[in-house]
Amino acid sequence: MTKIAVVGGGLGGLAGAIRLARMGYDVELFEKNERIGGKMNELHLGPYRFDTGPSLITMPFIIDELFECAGVHRQDYFDFIPVDPMCRYFFPDGSIFNAYANQSKMKTELQHFSPTEIVAFEKFMLYAKRIYDITTDVFVLNSVHRLSRLLNWKTAKKLLQIRHIDAFRTVHDAVCQFYTDKRLIQIFDRYPTYNGSDPFKAPATLNTIPYVEYGIGGYYIRGGLYRLVEALVHLAQKLGVTIHTSAAVEKILHKNRKITGIQVNGRIVPASVILSNIDVIECFNTLISGYERTRDALNTFEPSLSGMLFFWGVRGRYDRLAHHNILFSADYQREFRHIFDALEPPDDPTVYIAITCKADRDHAPMDGENWFVLVNMPYLKEGQDWPEAVRTTRQAVLEKLKRHGFDIQDNIEYEHVHTPEDLYRLYGSNRGSIYGISSNDRNMAFRRPANRFKKLKGLYFAGGSSHPGGGVPLVLQSGKIAAEWIADNVR
Ligand SMILES: Cc1cc2nc3c(=O)[nH]c(=O)nc-3n(C[C@H](O)[C@H](O)[C@H](O)COP(=O)(O)OP(=O)(O)OC[C@H]3O[C@@H](n4cnc5c(N)ncnc54)[C@H](O)[C@@H]3O)c2cc1C
Repeated sequence: MTKIAVVGGGLGGLAGAIRLARMGYDVELFEKNERIGGKMNELHLGPYRFDTGPSLITMPFIIDELFECAGVHRQDYFDFIPVDPMCRYFFPDGSIFNAYANQSKMKTELQHFSPTEIVAFEKFMLYAKRIYDITTDVFVLNSVHRLSRLLNWKTAKKLLQIRHIDAFRTVHDAVCQFYTDKRLIQIFDRYPTYNGSDPFKAPATLNTIPYVEYGIGGYYIRGGLYRLVEALVHLAQKLGVTIHTSAAVEKILHKNRKITGIQVNGRIVPASVILSNIDVIECFNTLISGYERTRDALNTFEPSLSGMLFFWGVRGRYDRLAHHNILFSADYQREFRHIFDALEPPDDPTVYIAITCKADRDHAPMDGENWFVLVNMPYLKEGQDWPEAVRTTRQAVLEKLKRHGFDIQDNIEYEHVHTPEDLYRLYGSNRGSIYGISSNDRNMAFRRPANRFKKLKGLYFAGGSSHPGGGVPLVLQSGKIAAEWIADNVR
């Protein structure tokens, strides 16, 4: 039986391992950390529980399909809970907007907030759905690098409509064509950050993301998102995958342009196929010898956004906050110029707060709340001062909260912080990026590394830095695309 080594136990690696084991391969998975899950992980601070990475699940049907492929029903493992309002937005002028997936609630909210924009919203959703309908089959469910798979009648029909994906202007330019209210423009400019990109640079094709959220819905998993990881580990083990934790892979071994195995904790493990779930660029920078031209080319890709995370166990209950909240900056464009051009922390950051105890009361004590606070940050470069950035950003976040009526400074009982350096250390993501490679380049959907490295027989990739990109549904899909590719090549 062909031996397959999966390197990395993030969602892409787990999804690939499950599918390969289900196909009958002998699969061993190696994860450097003590806990599986990669960025989707869990943290406990005293009586407070936190998700460390994703806080919102979109396209849940991709998760359901993975469970079905493994021969089980996802419903037997956990429930998806619709989050609605999906997000509560707080603006510097004091106005507040609840964004609902429920269309009639959304229209009622718009009626109160900015009545002239109801028609704009309806038109925008039709436009976003059209992009979704074309791009999902072509770029998400298939590999753009495998013409034999891509050119079936369904995707061929979609490819004929490719001119409608709005790739030649930016997200911001397109959004401005629909909306006139600056606050709604800011809301719809926010969606490219879901894959770590800049709305003032990224192609308007990313306007598919609002359709994913408003048309299909945003979900939470009862008990916390780590329940998904636990379920995937259970499935993988049930199907015979051997999982090693605290097993940092030190080298990917190859000879005569063929994979021969890995070196892990000083031990050689022979394998003719490797599914690497670690960041592709890091993989070439640290694990694979030779292939310098590939490595140099990959290092020219712009990493996605990074982030600074504050995990706060906060005394008190804050009923004006919802499960997901955004406190916007006054000048969004300036914020992105800080992050993507100057590569420095924004001085007036947009602040995202997820509070899962709004849905799961036992994630915090009765008189407290578990605040996951995320601020977009630049990826790592020499000369940044992260201890100083934590000090200034923390202060800026607390002042912004106070301006909106949440004076929590003296109520923070527990605190833990992740900087971009921590994201690099914890997950090995290139320069601390959260989503792999940014989509600011309009051609990135085609240029992002394929799920197979053709120059080295037996090397495949799954995860946020490979096709189709970052975010939970996409990395799960990358595991599927890679596993199917392996199955077609390795009998
Ligand atoms: C703060 C934050 C918020 C997010 N919010 C959302 C959200 O709301 N919705 C959403 O859909 N997505 C979100 N994401 C993105 C999502 O979490 C990721 O796209 C996804 O989890 C990445 O999965 P992956 O398969 O690329 O693997 P990763 O999670 O990157 O895991 C890779 C694994 O490889 C391991 N590894 C690295 N090097 C080695 C080595 N040498 N040997 C062995 N193992 C190694 C790492 O330890 C890690 O476990 C968020 C991410 C973060 C960090």
